[in-house]
Amino acid sequence: MSGDRGPDGPVEADVVICGAGVAGLAAACALGRHGIDVLLLEKQRSRPPVAKGEVLQPGSLNLLHGWGVLPALEARRAVRLDRLVARRADGSELLTMDFGQLDTDRPWLLSHDYVTILECLEGALGGTVRRQHGVLVEDLLRDEHGRVTGVRTGGGDRREIRARAVLAADGRSSRLRRLAGMTADPVAYDHRLLSFELAGTPPVTDEVSTYVTDRGMVMVYPLPDERIRVYVQVAADELRKADQVRLRQWCRQLVADVPALGPLAGLLEAGLGSRQLLPVFQYWAPSLVRPGIALVGEAAHGVHPLSAQGMNTAIGDAAALASRLAGVDLGDRAALDGALRAYEGERLERIKDIHSMSHNAARMMTSTSRGGRILGRRLLSGSARSGRLRHQLTYNMSGLGIRPLGTLDRLFQLGVLPDRRRAAVAAR
Ligand SMILES: Cc1cc2nc3c(=O)[nH]c(=O)nc-3n(C[C@H](O)[C@H](O)[C@H](O)COP(=O)(O)OP(=O)(O)OC[C@H]3O[C@@H](n4cnc5c(N)ncnc54)[C@H](O)[C@@H]3O)c2cc1C
Repeated sequence: MSGDRGPDGPVEADVVICGAGVAGLAAACALGRHGIDVLLLEKQRSRPPVAKGEVLQPGSLNLLHGWGVLPALEARRAVRLDRLVARRADGSELLTMDFGQLDTDRPWLLSHDYVTILECLEGALGGTVRRQHGVLVEDLLRDEHGRVTGVRTGGGDRREIRARAVLAADGRSSRLRRLAGMTADPVAYDHRLLSFELAGTPPVTDEVSTYVTDRGMVMVYPLPDERIRVYVQVAADELRKADQVRLRQWCRQLVADVPALGPLAGLLEAGLGSRQLLPVFQYWAPSLVRPGIALVGEAAHGVHPLSAQGMNTAIGDAAALASRLAGVDLGDRAALDGALRAYEGERLERIKDIHSMSHNAARMMTSTSRGGRILGRRLLSGSARSGRLRHQLTYNMSGLGIRPLGTLDRLFQLGVLPDRRRAAVAAR
């Protein structure tokens, strides 16, 4: 507890969390609900609006409901979406994942702006959580055995803050991960995403549509207040040095290549000024803990955004860590480290499964080579033919759990073998 003495001096917090993105805030929320004393440090004073982390899966909705965050999101007009649909460029259906089929309390997706999701998490932080913005964590404090015992802040606010445990929630390029001697080498995909936020109503309103086309994937879904998020896959150098004329030509070509975007053509051209170009990465850290420190969220893992799993996995990390730490005497270092190792044991397998599912989905939908395109579409339509596989894929995306596909499932997807159990739907 804050104010107590530890072996190395006064302890200012049970847990210091570095980074107030979705991972740090979710961890603060979950730990606060167990009455754990938390100090949350964030280097930014304010949040720039960025296109990231907007679609929440049913597994996260259940957790957010338990933390009291869901009502705030709904009160701020979050949009419910029933399905993820892979479509051809002309809009015809390749594969539908219908979340309504899932046996869970909230069988839908929810979309909202990343910043609003963060604000709703902030609104649910308990009385044992303190927040400080504009504080850069520069270094880790350690004892003579190398154990992490706190953090050192930098900039104009140089301080040493001792804590019983430190959580690195400082995102993809995590400084704390590196300082703690853990690795995760982010690998960039060969393409980027061009993001548009448009004012209007998408052609299909209750779904996340992913158009799988010869030029790569295009994703469209509604945001609150009649806004539309569009992500367009672009080659790394596709729009380098493009002027306004070239951008408009590019936009017209996009609509010609993906006729399903026809109803959005005018909005896309008008939205060129507010586009954002985003690199995309995949990675996972082979270890998540060291004595006194644990990784959560993108400090630990990253996947292609098209599977909408990054923020959801971060929320799962937070819940798992908090339930491991709940009831543990955090002053007992052996007990604390045992709880951190249990967290690692529980999450690492899940993180690897989510990584491999997301990477396979990304390859299926973003391949632009002839062979990759043919294979991707064959896998999608093979899955569509089997109700059992459709259900399994939907479940795996939902954040409720993972049932990895086996070799036979791959053969069914490829159409090499008929799926004789295609009508069966696995129990929850
Ligand atoms: C285009 C795009 C779309 C996406 N869509 C989805 C989606 O629909 N669904 C989904 O589940 N996921 C999605 N994701 C992934 C999701 O956005 C990320 O997984 C999630 O935001 C990671 O959260 P985080 O808190 O781990 O990291 P971040 O959001 O990066 O937060 C890290 C925080 O740490 C702070 N920080 C960093 N270093 C320090 C330091 N030294 N001291 C103090 N503070 C520090 C940063 O300022 C930042 O606020 C998407 C990602 C992208 C790029």
